[in-house]
Amino acid sequence: MARHGQPSRAFDAASVRAEFPILSDPGLHYLDNAAIAQIPTVVLDAMGLFDRELRANVHGGVYRLACGALAAYESARAAVARFIHAQSPAEVVFTYGTTSAINLLAHSFGALLQEGDEVLISQLEHHSNLLPWRQLAERRGVVLRTLPMTQDGRLDLDRLEETLRPRCRLVALTHCSNVTGALTDVDRVVAAARAVGAKVMLDGAQRLPHGAIDVQALGIDFYVFSGHKCYGPTGIGVLWGKAELLATMPPFMTGGQMIRRVTAEAVDYADPPRRLEAGTPPIGPAIGLGAALEWMARLDWDGAQRHERRLTQRVLARLAELPGVRVVGPLDLCERIGVVSFDIAGIDPTEVCRALDRRHGVALRAGYHCAQPLVAAFGLTGVARASLAPYSTDADVDALLEGLDALASERCRLVTSSGAAPAS
Ligand code: PMP
Repeated sequence: MARHGQPSRAFDAASVRAEFPILSDPGLHYLDNAAIAQIPTVVLDAMGLFDRELRANVHGGVYRLACGALAAYESARAAVARFIHAQSPAEVVFTYGTTSAINLLAHSFGALLQEGDEVLISQLEHHSNLLPWRQLAERRGVVLRTLPMTQDGRLDLDRLEETLRPRCRLVALTHCSNVTGALTDVDRVVAAARAVGAKVMLDGAQRLPHGAIDVQALGIDFYVFSGHKCYGPTGIGVLWGKAELLATMPPFMTGGQMIRRVTAEAVDYADPPRRLEAGTPPIGPAIGLGAALEWMARLDWDGAQRHERRLTQRVLARLAELPGVRVVGPLDLCERIGVVSFDIAGIDPTEVCRALDRRHGVALRAGYHCAQPLVAAFGLTGVARASLAPYSTDADVDALLEGLDALASERCRLVTSSGAAPAS
């Protein structure tokens, strides 16, 4: 985090946790951070600031309140740019979330593609990074190729060369899977994409909540993420794009605030990012996201990542010992983050989550996690998922493991009393 200087203090999960009002409930073991992370007080305050003290539209007003709102909105854009090491705030387009950022890209960058051009995604993608490209393929005759995953739920990069053809114009991959927790080897992807002249987009929805990135050092062209997974509000997200690429992209949505001049005959669109932000933007949420990323920039992420890895290891180690439990994702901690999905043979994952909530106060999520092709490739229709954050504690993991132990022994009793051999 070079441009942010040193974090203000060494990492300590308990004091980080104390900054999150909702986590003061000792009966709540919140392990659904991949769906939505909690919000610290400083971000709650920043979110309230717009409505309490600065509420004015950000475009066109010359009175003091409007200037204050615009300054806060643009300083949030600058905070995003600093956190991801963009070359300039003008490269940061505010959207409503990851989904709307990818749809924007698929329409706007997609409009530059020709029939027969290719887009490469993978079997690991969230539906948000699958369906917009599938629609583009139907709309414009673009060919959609899919990089398969390995048996343990990582991108199968050994198959990259064969899937990445000369007509590929964009490689759009997850930076980190929301189901398997697998991290993408970006250097390898970028090198292969460059060899055929393709651009690279990473879906950072799951990776950015675990620490700052440097989009320039990564060598990518586009990055997308959501505010609510980064300790900020809902209804806000980001499309970062290299300035020279954004400059070539036609608008996706048209309307107010995104033109230089409109006449009866013609329209001259504004430069990015405004060209890509039609209408009144989500001003309060953008200000909240800026505050959330500033909060993140002050955290000791080396310490936080060590802490998350240790807790992840505890979860993985216990799951490996429980009969009938299968982890869907890599076991090597260098290849994953603390998003741990698993199946308990013979128990519906939704029932696992209900039991853990009612008896142990553990909040987990079950289902296909908006990644049906991925979950189906494991021969399943759903999995239970525990996902960690820097404020997760050993007490959260203890509650999860106690709950899982109890479920595993109940399952053994049921299987044994029914006379069937327990599946392992
Ligand atoms: N991509 C990934 C990897 C995700 O985890 C999610 C959210 N679960 C999304 C995209 C979609 O994000 P949003 O719903 O905020 O648009």
